[in-house]
Amino acid sequence: MESPLTHVQPWLKNHHPYLISGPCSVETREQFLTAARALAATGKVNALRGGIWKPRTRPNAFEGIGGKGIEWMLEARAETGLPIMTEVATAEHVELCLQHQFDMLWIGARTTANPFSVQEIAEALKGVDIPVFVKNPVNADLSLWIGALERIYAAGIQRLVAIHRGFSYYGQSIYRNKPMWEIPIALRSAFPDLPMVCDPSHIGGRRDLLAPIAQRAMDLGFDGLMIESHPTPDQAWSDAAQQITAEVYQQLIDALQIRQHNTNDLAATNALASLRSQIDKIDEEVIGLIGERMRLAEHIGAYKKDHNMMIFQLDRWQEIIATRSQLADRIGLSKDFIDKFLEQLHKESIRTQTRVMNQTE
Ligand code: PEP
Ligand code: MN
Repeated sequence: MESPLTHVQPWLKNHHPYLISGPCSVETREQFLTAARALAATGKVNALRGGIWKPRTRPNAFEGIGGKGIEWMLEARAETGLPIMTEVATAEHVELCLQHQFDMLWIGARTTANPFSVQEIAEALKGVDIPVFVKNPVNADLSLWIGALERIYAAGIQRLVAIHRGFSYYGQSIYRNKPMWEIPIALRSAFPDLPMVCDPSHIGGRRDLLAPIAQRAMDLGFDGLMIESHPTPDQAWSDAAQQITAEVYQQLIDALQIRQHNTNDLAATNALASLRSQIDKIDEEVIGLIGERMRLAEHIGAYKKDHNMMIFQLDRWQEIIATRSQLADRIGLSKDFIDKFLEQLHKESIRTQTRVMNQTE
């Protein structure tokens, strides 16, 4: 079944990159107005964000200032002329924002993970023309993200955006939420017109990680960024470790290398075409070699069958990993890549041998 999202509007593409900033939470009138003024003064912000209702992992953390934050955001918009956006998690949030003519809305990662909540929001949005940004769900599930986008789209929302904010996982990593770039890349491949914004703040969880994540997003062709900024980050009521002042924000944006999709420079275009044709040739060779390797695996399968041997031989597998990893390391291939590559190769080889073993002639 073709997804209706195939026909989504590429509406954000004229701004490159589209920049959203503001504090994680709207805390006080003074705090939000100060943040908004400082960000507007950078001239590097297209929209102001601020969380009024905060879904928190543990109770008793700051759960948002609630409805009174709305007035402060409206005041900031009137003063700076910048559009405002906030997170909605229920139909009631949507109604309040619509009543006060918010410019845009976003759905948070915890909400996207729950189809009932997304559906409730979609119902509240029926017949309304407002841009809606949908964060990826907390878990690494592309279908769940697509499903949430489809629900909002089906409500009649034409201007949709996906926000990549990383995925939660159990274990150690430098990231607060693992980026797993392959997931937003898969979303982009499925729906090339769907605008995508990256949220380095919630991926990194730490100030020093924001710039490299933002740069990576630009290199991968994201359409924009959402970055949390607070006048006094260390005193923030939520997400203190990842927020930055407007001054630091400006430095970060100024330092970004913004990539173009294509270039008008003919020499560069030719050079790229030549590199691509070399890559095409290498890929053909690699695939041909893998085919040859599988034919050898077939012979091995036949040999093991004749000699009544087990397919999986642990010592041989360990030797393959050790020697190939060393080789890969010497030429600068990452351990993660070579481990995954060998695992796939081995799986296919075992599959081939199993087929040969079970052949009845
Ligand atoms: C936020 O934007 O402050 C937020 C709560 O983000 P997420 O839904 O990505 O956790
Ligand atoms: Mn936050």
